[in-house]
Amino acid sequence: MYRFYEIVGQEGAIEHLQNSLLRGSVSHAYIINGEKGSGKEMLARTYAAALQCEHPVVTGGRREPCGECRSCLQVMSGNQPDIIVWPRKKPPKYSVRDDIRPFLPDVQIRPYQSPWKIYLFEDADQLGPASQNALLKTLEEPPSYALFLLLANGTDNFLPTVLSRCITLQMRQVPEQTTAAYLMGKKGIDENRALLCARFSRGNIGRALDLAGSTEFAALLEESTGLLAAIPDMDASRIAAASARFGTAESAGDFLELVLTWYRDALVFKSTAGRGTIIFSDAPSSIKRAADRLDYPGLQRIMEAVQTAQVRIKSNVNAAMALESMLLQIRASYRPGEG
Ligand SMILES: [Zn+2]
Repeated sequence: MYRFYEIVGQEGAIEHLQNSLLRGSVSHAYIINGEKGSGKEMLARTYAAALQCEHPVVTGGRREPCGECRSCLQVMSGNQPDIIVWPRKKPPKYSVRDDIRPFLPDVQIRPYQSPWKIYLFEDADQLGPASQNALLKTLEEPPSYALFLLLANGTDNFLPTVLSRCITLQMRQVPEQTTAAYLMGKKGIDENRALLCARFSRGNIGRALDLAGSTEFAALLEESTGLLAAIPDMDASRIAAASARFGTAESAGDFLELVLTWYRDALVFKSTAGRGTIIFSDAPSSIKRAADRLDYPGLQRIMEAVQTAQVRIKSNVNAAMALESMLLQIRASYRPGEG
């Protein structure tokens, strides 16, 4: 079910929408701006559900959809007749690039059953100028019941006149600790995995959830921690093989983040004599061994080597080659081992 309390780390946008719900001061058009996975669709659908709900519940100072009335059940099954999603997947079908002019007369028809007629536009920033101009005309004199929720990944493509007619709500990056707590508390993910997924989500809750459920990420994690534990004593041919393995376009970026996180852990471990919080908390003995066999200049060189590899891969240098040169530099940064 769509509930505001299920939405993580977007207090600013939620507060704005809650004020409108509790005071009955709903605007006719909102742009909800944020990257893919930031939760903007969840926010829009929750707001729509709350507006259309027949028996909304006020709890903790927030108005939430009840989850039980006819409208709420329709929202959950995707069949609320007064919440209209664009692009249309049902006939008459429209794609996001289509001209919306033939569709807009629909706005003049009163809602079928609910107080509002809500238009939810996915990828609204991809609407062409003709569509935006037509939308603008509607926004200049909207019927009292009409509400447009425009989801966008960036606002640069909107006509300034459209922007000025809309209230823009910005989705925020969710702090790592908030994401980790959400994964542990609501999703039952263990702490170590939750911290790693939060770190790799870069503030994006959708990505955090994807990672938490991803077997590929779990495999990458296991393989790369195995590699990093073994690297001081690996020979060149094994390093070349590992570089080829991790050097595919899909995994190189995540692998480099993992390497960086691993050596940051080693740095934290070394500088706090093992008392600091580390991300790879299920591999403390491997992190300790790395911290013992690396001095501070060595750790510094490793961080620089990883960052150099990140830059080289971004500028389209062959990823396997960039990784191999990085891994060789990492190996050379270790003090000769005691075994
Ligand atoms: Zn309801």
